[in-house]
Amino acid sequence: MISLSDVRVARENIVQVVNTTPILQSAQLSNICGNRVFLKAEHLQKTGAFKIRGAANKVKQVVEKGATFVTAASSGNHGQAVAYIANMLGIRATIVVPDDVIQSKLAAIQAYHGGIEKCGLTSSERLPRAEQLASEEGGVVVPPYDDPLIIAGQGTIGLELLDQLDEIDIVVVPIGGGGLISGILTAIKEIKPSVKIIGVEPEIANDTYMSLQNGAITSIPPTGTIADGLRATQPGSLTFPIVQHYVDDIVLVSEEQIKYAMRFVLERTKQLIEPSSAVTVAAAIYDKIGARQKNIVCVISGGNVDLSQLAKLV
Ligand SMILES: *Cc1c(COP(=O)(O)O)cnc(C)c1O
Repeated sequence: MISLSDVRVARENIVQVVNTTPILQSAQLSNICGNRVFLKAEHLQKTGAFKIRGAANKVKQVVEKGATFVTAASSGNHGQAVAYIANMLGIRATIVVPDDVIQSKLAAIQAYHGGIEKCGLTSSERLPRAEQLASEEGGVVVPPYDDPLIIAGQGTIGLELLDQLDEIDIVVVPIGGGGLISGILTAIKEIKPSVKIIGVEPEIANDTYMSLQNGAITSIPPTGTIADGLRATQPGSLTFPIVQHYVDDIVLVSEEQIKYAMRFVLERTKQLIEPSSAVTVAAAIYDKIGARQKNIVCVISGGNVDLSQLAKLV
């Protein structure tokens, strides 16, 4: 397991590259939740999601070790983050995307000068291709969550929160492969263990919830949840032990609840957040957290939405 000092080192490593994102508040959101709700606005992060934190920490080390090429298997926020940071640090990146990737995602990767390689329709085809490309050219694969430097980078959100807010009772965090929550758990539980940390998954992508119940990594069948950043079918082998050790609870939200939360945030706060982030707001609105008059931070993990899908989502 990584420790607090790894997260502190990550923060020094990435401070020049990432934004310290603001904390937003909405009286209407607080009212309907019956708690003081704060939004940690990682949708205003560079590349539109928190993934740049872990990717920057990892790619920086790759560069220090002398490699000049990285790959990643992701058409989503992780792929964009790796393309962005590689370009910024002056090395090449190739992002392996599915054959049916949507145009807006391709355009984002290309805007950061990332190379594109199309391969198959499932992640089980893309990852071996990313590994093959990396090994052919002496490069390094940047994994999306199951890597100590990635986890430590995501954990810098936890350090920022403790600096930004004097009183936090509960932090609510989305769970995909678990890199984000395990980093935040490491940072906050090692500094201020009284803060509760609650993970959220879609009902139809409840792999970490099931794993926690079963006391062992448990996989679920592929899922089509609208929260496309949370479609991992099992938690990581590095992330799950951290979740198991520290997390206070994991709660589940329905697809309809995710859409309602996304719409509520857009309409009332004028912030466009993506479904993977809206799960935390949904958990607060639909009283999954079981708290009253507490200071609750919902981590808004990203804001990348394909605008052609927007009407369908809200
Ligand atoms: C990747 C991602 C998540 C999930 O993060 P994990 O580290 O995989 O748990 C949540 N929200 C957004 C917007 C993401 O891109």
